[in-house]
Order: sequence, then structure tokens, then C-alpha cells
Amino acid sequence: MEFSFWEDQTWLQHRDALVIGGGIVGLSAACRLAELRPDWRIAVMERSAFGDGGTTRNAGFACFGSPAELLDDRAVLGDAAALALVERRLRGLRTLRSWLGDGAIGYESCGSHALYVPEGMAPVATDALADLNRWLEPVTGIARTFERVPAPATLREGAVVAADWSPLEGAVHTGALHRALLRRTAKAGVDVVRGVEIVAVKPGDPVELTVRRGRSGSEHRIAVPRCLVATNAFARELLPDLDAHPAENRVLVTEPHPTRPSTGTYHLEAGYVYARHLPDGRLLIGGGRHWQLDASGTADRLRSLLTDLWPDAGATAFEWTGTLGVGAVREPIVEAVGPGVLAAVRLGGMGVAIGAGLGREAADLLAKSR
Ligand SMILES: Cc1cc2nc3c(=O)[nH]c(=O)nc-3n(C[C@H](O)[C@H](O)[C@H](O)COP(=O)(O)OP(=O)(O)OC[C@H]3O[C@@H](n4cnc5c(N)ncnc54)[C@H](O)[C@@H]3O)c2cc1C
Repeated sequence: MEFSFWEDQTWLQHRDALVIGGGIVGLSAACRLAELRPDWRIAVMERSAFGDGGTTRNAGFACFGSPAELLDDRAVLGDAAALALVERRLRGLRTLRSWLGDGAIGYESCGSHALYVPEGMAPVATDALADLNRWLEPVTGIARTFERVPAPATLREGAVVAADWSPLEGAVHTGALHRALLRRTAKAGVDVVRGVEIVAVKPGDPVELTVRRGRSGSEHRIAVPRCLVATNAFARELLPDLDAHPAENRVLVTEPHPTRPSTGTYHLEAGYVYARHLPDGRLLIGGGRHWQLDASGTADRLRSLLTDLWPDAGATAFEWTGTLGVGAVREPIVEAVGPGVLAAVRLGGMGVAIGAGLGREAADLLAKSR
């Protein structure tokens, strides 16, 4: 189907800034840009109904990294860059909570446990934990960011060999967060145009974009002074030189349970696996890409780990996949990729924490551009 004259003139043309991708980064960036440049006509273009990326399909951890992940970040990035990354995650969470409000995003200040199972990765040594705490104190503001504790009583006895508690992490309701962001975006006067895919971006003055109506409709050219690519895992479809690659993650959610607690988050296997309580006593488990199994092998192993931890987990009610954007390091990319075009992508597995802050950074840069 072709674009009508009205669709073209109302939704596509005459933009001062265009954001490609309606996830947490794209929506946050658009909101911030509208604050900085109230006179600009801003649109977010999103190719699918809800969003194909992590924003509507994630597990809802408001986290900054388990001990094993942070040790890994320090080894790969070095102390200063890894600490700056933790600070960015904590700042992003603060931004998100203050922008949208804890009630609107279903924020639970529930803390988190890093769990170590008998056949899994070894526990972080207690002296390494103490060293992590000293390193983290300047950004977390507390002496014991992590503490070795007895296994949580809700787990099967003997299911884990060690547990590390952090009081600083929390959880959100992923769907409510997305809705709150959309409401804020609408209030800021930004148009979110759905079912429109950007199939090519040509940097320049102006930036030339090829837009498609749906996945198979007609193509159309538009020109804008500036645009932001916020398509995370899908970034290379438009910008093939970026080090941002798709990595699939599988998530399972069980049926409700009448008496199980409804709050609490758990990291396992250096963050490659995650589990949490949900309202109605449901359990969620996800991840497992480090096992390098196929889709059904990953689902079976997640399921078996879940019932090992909570033998009364109950039947699976929902199962889905989502796509992470990953690269050589866990740091996100926010950079100009050509005249008029900025990219803010590669959010990895902690995009809930870092996404709003990254959107803000990108908007600040875009607002200053020509
Ligand atoms: C299964 C899973 C669990 C996760 N759990 C957590 C968690 O518990 N905590 C946490 O912090 N993070 C988690 N993450 C990561 C987090 O969800 C992401 O890092 C974050 O949502 C990325 O946001 P984004 O806006 O950068 O990208 P996305 O949410 O991926 O949004 C990009 C959008 O761009 C759209 N798009 C792509 N190409 C085009 C195009 N050409 N034209 C128009 N639109 C386009 C897509 O449809 C998509 O909606 C998880 C991710 C997954 C997949």
C-alpha cells in the first residue's frame, strides 16, 4: 500500500528531528529533546506495534550488575571505565524513576541476590567481594554494596551453594514502564508513528531517509536536518559498520501461585541467567545464551533450573524471546556516525538502567547539533 498525501504531510514530512526506534532510548531521547527544543517538530518512527526490541520484552530488573559481572567489566574495561559504567547505570535508574515516578513504572525496591548453583559458575571469592565493595563505595555511597548471606528461605534447601545480597537493586513492571514512557512522550508533544520502517539512512545536509509503510508497503523518501538511530540490536540493518549485534534471550513465566512471595530478583551464572518473582506468585526465568543451546534446549534447561530452585514453580504460562544488542564490551555506543546522524545503541543486558540516561545524553548532543 502507498502512503496517502495526508499521511505523508501529517506524519512524515516537516520534521526538525527524527528518532528511529521507539524503545526506552528512542522515547527518552525524544522527551528530552522536546524539553530542550520546544519549537522543534519531533517524531519517533517505530516499525512494529509494541516494539520488536528489548523494551517491551525484558525481565524488568532495575540492576547495575552482579558481583561476577562487575568483576568481568573491571577485567575487560579497567577500573575507571567499569566504575563509570556502574555510575551511568545508577544515574540512568535515578533519571527513569524521577521522570516517570515509581508508581507508574511499578518500581519495587526489593534488592537482589546473586545465586550460585552446585553445577554452575563458582561463587565470587569473599576477598574479591570485599574488594568490589571498596571499589564501588564512591558511586553507591554504601560500604556493603554486596554481602555474602545465607540462601533465601524461599528456595529449595541445598539448591544453591552461596548467595550474595545487594540492597540497591530493584525491579520494574516492564509493560507499565513502556506505557509511562509513551504517555510522557505524548505529553511532550512528540508524535510516535508506528508501523513505519526506516529502511535506509543517508547522512548529509539534509539527512535522507527511505521510509516503508509496514514491512512490505511502498517506499518513500523524506529529508530531515538531523536524526537519531536508537534501534539497538537492529542497528546494523541501517549502519552496518557499528559493533552492535543481536543476541536472542528466552524468557519463561509460570502460572500464578496463591502463596508464593511476589517480590525479589535473582542473578545466576554471572548474569547470563535471571529469575524474579512477579505479582500473583508467578516466577520468571530467562537468559541462558552462554549455554549455546538451541531454542528448545535453552527453554528446557531454564525450566529445569527453575524447578530445581522452586520445586513448586508450576506450569509455564508464557514463553517468548527478545533481542539484546551486544558488542565486544558492555559499554553502550553514543556517537555521531555521519553528518546529521547520531547513534545511541548496544545497550546489552542492563538497558533498563542505562536506557533513559543514554537517551538523555543523545538528546543533549542532538540539541546542540547544527
Ligand atoms: C529477554 C530480555 C530480557 C532483558 N532483561 C533486562 C532486564 O531485566 N533489565 C535490564 O536492564 N535490561 C534488560 N534487557 C535489556 C533491555 O531490555 C534493552 O537493553 C533495552 O530495552 C534496549 O532499549 P533500546 O531502546 O535501546 O532498544 P529496543 O527496545 O530494542 O528498541 C529498538 C526499537 O527499534 C525498532 N526498530 C528497529 N529497526 C527499526 C527500523 N529500521 N525502523 C523503525 N524502527 C525500528 C524496534 O522495533 C524496537 O522497538 C533485556 C533484554 C531482553 C531481550
